[in-house]
Amino acid sequence: MRTGTVIIGACQAGVQLASSLRELGDTEPIVLVGEEPHAPYQRPPLSKAFLKGEATADSLTFRTHEFYSEHRIELVTRERIVSIERDASGGVATAESGRRFEFARLALTTGAVPRQIPFDGSELEGVSYLRTATDAALLEQRLASATDVVVVGGGFIGLEVAAGARAAGKTVTVLEAAPRLVGRAVSEATSAFYLAAHRRRGTRVVLNAQVTRFLGQHDRVTGVQLASGDVIPADVVLIGVGVIARTELAEQLGLMVDNGIVVDASALCSDGLTVAAGDCANLPNPSLTPGGIDRLRLESVQNAVEQAKVAAATLLGLPAVYSTVPWFWSDQADLKLQIAGLSGGHDQIVLRGDPEAEKFSVLYYRAGQLIAADCVNRPLDFIAVRAILHSGQHLPSDRAADLTVPLKKLALPAALAVLIGK
Ligand SMILES: Cc1cc2nc3c(=O)[nH]c(=O)nc-3n(C[C@H](O)[C@H](O)[C@H](O)COP(=O)(O)OP(=O)(O)OC[C@H]3O[C@@H](n4cnc5c(N)ncnc54)[C@H](O)[C@@H]3O)c2cc1C
Repeated sequence: MRTGTVIIGACQAGVQLASSLRELGDTEPIVLVGEEPHAPYQRPPLSKAFLKGEATADSLTFRTHEFYSEHRIELVTRERIVSIERDASGGVATAESGRRFEFARLALTTGAVPRQIPFDGSELEGVSYLRTATDAALLEQRLASATDVVVVGGGFIGLEVAAGARAAGKTVTVLEAAPRLVGRAVSEATSAFYLAAHRRRGTRVVLNAQVTRFLGQHDRVTGVQLASGDVIPADVVLIGVGVIARTELAEQLGLMVDNGIVVDASALCSDGLTVAAGDCANLPNPSLTPGGIDRLRLESVQNAVEQAKVAAATLLGLPAVYSTVPWFWSDQADLKLQIAGLSGGHDQIVLRGDPEAEKFSVLYYRAGQLIAADCVNRPLDFIAVRAILHSGQHLPSDRAADLTVPLKKLALPAALAVLIGK
């Protein structure tokens, strides 16, 4: 009889899932298989501290080798799983190398890969993507000798890299196809703030920019051409236009896939056997607009961790439901953005603080209920909003608009206790 769990994808969600299985008392073998050459590491610093030379792949690892051996988690790196056969009693996952991993239980934590853009010149030296420590090392090396940096895509990763390159004295241009920055994640008010903040720091930002091709000489990128005919000089181009969930194994297993592996609130896939968690999973979320979209694929550390905990419990047959309030952060220059909740479908905004002073929070309301906040350099507001959202406390918008009272004073002590107890 087959025993044990195989987890495919050794990063944020995979490591958490393995650790949670042990915390929940699982004594069977656990094999965590990843294709990357490194032990699992944190990705967020790759666009922040890593590019400043303040971190290395080794310094970013989640756990020591002792941790894996003490917890009897077999960590396998450099093995890409290419096929899986399974039935209700288990199965076998086979790597490209031919190595086989038998399992009774299977978890997919395969994450995501950068969306590629197929323009002429994409293959030129200097055109870069950023997902892995290997990508970051290459980008760091390219940036070191660059003068002109072009970032295609005004999302979080692109803006973080742009801010770092600008602080290092490069000429930086951000090209965003949409009419505003970070349009998928924040409201117009926060987008407008970031546009002004990056411009203040000397970054050129072009909105509604339509890239048509990359220009080069001797196989090296030299510029980016826009539909307007403008050519922006570039020694390095970073493309940060979102990611695509890695669903190839799920598809091979015949699992339901729709912008990620479709799972229920217990992280269970459509076969009722396999679990999936993290960036690869499309999950129901209680914070979404009632009557509107009811599921979402989130790309955040917090989601990967919380969902992996739920997936571990589900694999062991324990009841668990994903119901946490999403949160996220992004560091751009000296601006720390912290987001609590999901602001989609908001019908009212309360502004606290002063965007001009680069310290403010935007609170989002829907039908009179606080649903989310973007907090820029206001960590106490972020903690207060998370506490309020976690506890379900009602904070009327007129009270939130009273700037004479700090938000944390408006969060009931019980609400803060719920968060601290989490
Ligand atoms: C540059 C950068 C900055 C970020 N900044 C932030 C931030 O500030 N805040 C935040 O909350 N989030 C941030 N994120 C997002 C966050 O890192 C991800 O949400 C998180 O890593 C998701 O974890 P995961 O385990 O689901 O997926 P991943 O981290 O993508 O890990 C999946 C792993 O599975 C492996 N894999 C896939 N298929 C196979 C296979 N067939 N065989 C073997 N291995 C396989 C992949 O190689 C990968 O190592 C950032 C991401 C990046 C890239």
